Amino acid sequence: SRIKDVQFVKSSPRPKECPKDDRPEFAILGRSNVGKSSLINSLVRKKELALTSKKPGKTQLINHFLVNKSWYLVDLPGYGFAKAPEAAKTDWSSFTKGYFLNRSTLVAVLLLIDASVPPQRIDLDCANWLGRNNIPITFVFTKCDKMKVAKGKIPDENIKDFQEIIKQNYKQHPPWIMTSSVTGLGRDELLLHVSQLRNY
Ligand code: GDP
Repeated sequence: SRIKDVQFVKSSPRPKECPKDDRPEFAILGRSNVGKSSLINSLVRKKELALTSKKPGKTQLINHFLVNKSWYLVDLPGYGFAKAPEAAKTDWSSFTKGYFLNRSTLVAVLLLIDASVPPQRIDLDCANWLGRNNIPITFVFTKCDKMKVAKGKIPDENIKDFQEIIKQNYKQHPPWIMTSSVTGLGRDELLLHVSQLRNY
């Protein structure tokens, strides 16, 4: 389950323009600042994989990266920018929802959740929306190395709280993986998980 090769394939402004290809894909998304770029770079073991669509206000793009010539890692625009204008927030919904509902090669969504903060409404809303639409998700908790928190709870406790809430909406709890881009925790587990889902 090593990543030997990653090629940037395409940035698509609309779901309809995504690559026409039947290779399986995994979409990665989460709140702005959740640690998505750090995680992708740690998975790929590259410091500066060209990542676009990072900043609010920029064109929202669906970015396809082909991994080992066999599956796509799809970087979706982040959500929950504190300062994004209302229009940009609404834009996210129709845009990203269109992708989720129409992409037949989508195997699962890797939903990034910051374990260094308590459960956030917007993450729960996103998870519940995906669940209602029968889109498989894997929770990828980020920043699990963070032990010094100014206020509140450590990652383990935040993760438990998050799962308690999620349990109420899912018959079966989606798979979840704890990661840290600082220590490399969960990196191999996540790649193994992806390869198992692909071969399922
Ligand atoms: P993105 O906006 O989701 O792409 O988030 P970034 O990857 O840019 O990370 C946002 C902030 O969180 C940066 O200051 C990172 O250094 C920090 N960060 C990201 N991943 C981790 C992690 O695993 N552990 C810790 N302690 N900090 C992290």
